[in-house]
Amino acid sequence: MFDQILQSARRHERAIVGFLRDLIATKSLSAQEGDVIRRVEREMAACGYDEVRIDAMGNILGRIGSGPRVLALDAHVDTVDVGNAANWTVDPFEGDERDGIIYGRGACDMKGALASIVYGGRIIKELGLERECTIWVVGSVQEEDCDGLCWQYILNEDGLRPEAVVIAEPTNLSVYRGHRGRMEIEVRTRGVSCHGSAPERGVNAIYRMAPIVADIERLNDRLSGEPFLGKGTVTIAEIRSTSPSLCAVADSATIHLDRRLAATDTMESALGEIRSLPSVAAAGAEVAVLDYAVPSWRGLVYPTKKYYPTWLLAEDHPLLRAGTAAYAGLFGEPAQVGRWVFSTNGVAVMGMHRIPCIGFGPGNEVFAHMATEQIPVEHLVKAAAWYAAFPGVYTKG
Ligand SMILES: [Zn+2]
Repeated sequence: MFDQILQSARRHERAIVGFLRDLIATKSLSAQEGDVIRRVEREMAACGYDEVRIDAMGNILGRIGSGPRVLALDAHVDTVDVGNAANWTVDPFEGDERDGIIYGRGACDMKGALASIVYGGRIIKELGLERECTIWVVGSVQEEDCDGLCWQYILNEDGLRPEAVVIAEPTNLSVYRGHRGRMEIEVRTRGVSCHGSAPERGVNAIYRMAPIVADIERLNDRLSGEPFLGKGTVTIAEIRSTSPSLCAVADSATIHLDRRLAATDTMESALGEIRSLPSVAAAGAEVAVLDYAVPSWRGLVYPTKKYYPTWLLAEDHPLLRAGTAAYAGLFGEPAQVGRWVFSTNGVAVMGMHRIPCIGFGPGNEVFAHMATEQIPVEHLVKAAAWYAAFPGVYTKG
C-alpha cells in the first residue's frame, strides 16, 4: 500500500507544483483570503472531494469519506506580507521553480503544505483509502494574525469534532509533537500630569514604570520549563507613554510584553508572576491580556484573547506512533521527532480544546517569512504521500 501511495504522489507531482504556483500567485494576506479560498475550492472539486464548504468565517473544509473515525489535516491559507521588496530575488507573487525548488511568498509557510494536503486527499480518494474515516482537509484563515482563532471557530461553530488533527506547518518532513505557547500582555502605569517646569507637582508615570521594566528583565532569567519545549521567556516589545504636551509630566506609560509559555505555564500563572512583582504592586499598575477582534474576509468578527496555550503530545501517544510509522513505511527510514520554535493553530486545537495534534509538513521552517522563502518539490510529493497514508495507519493502529 505504501508503494502505491508513493507512486500516486509522484504521478501528481506536476499537478501539485502547478497548484502551488497558482496559490503563490494569489495574494492572501490575513483577513484578505477570499481569492485563494476560491482557488482551493476549485481544486478540491477537481480532485473529487465528497463535499466542499466554506464556513461563515471563510475557512474552507473539504471532506473525503463518511466513516466514524473523523480526522482533519490543517493548512492556513494566509501569508505575511512581502516586507522590503528589495530583499527578494524573485517576484514574491510570481515565484519561480529552479533546480527542484519552488520560490515565492507562502511557498514554505504554508501554501506548499496546502497543495500537499489537498492532493493527499485526492490520493486517498483515488486509492479508496478512506474506509472507516471521514477526513476533513482544511484551509484555515487569519492564522498569521491570530493563530488558532480559525480553529476556535471551526470547533465551536462548525460542528466539526475530529478525534485528531494534523498541523501541516513546515517540519522539514519530521514529525513534531508541540511547541511553546504565547501571550500578549500590557502593563500600564498612571501618573498625574502637570507643567514640566514644576515636575514636583505631578506624578510621572514613566518613573513608576522604570522599576517594572527592570523587574521584567529579571523575571525572564527566573522562568523555567521542561526540557523538550524549553523554558518560558518574556521580553518587552514596545514602550509608550502619554502626556498633554512635551512640556509636561507623563500621565500614563504602557509596556507591551511578548511572553512565550513553557509546557508548565498557564495564562493565570503568567499573569500572576507579573502582578506579584513588587514594582507592579507598588505602582498599582494594570496588567491585561490584549484582545483580537479583526473582521475575517467574510466580515465575521470572532473576538478572542491573545492567549495561545502551549501544547505537547506525549512521547508514547498513539498519534505520534502512527505518524512515525507512516513515515517509516513510506520512506524506509525512521522519522525524526521534534518541535516547532514558532506557534501554530495547535494552540486552539490541542491547547484549548484538548484534541490531540501532530505536526508534519514539507519545507524548512527557517525559510518562513523570509525573502528567500522556498520549498523543495520532493518535499511536496513526500508530504502528499504521508497525508494519504497517515489516516489508514492511525485508524488501524
Ligand atoms: Zn504558518
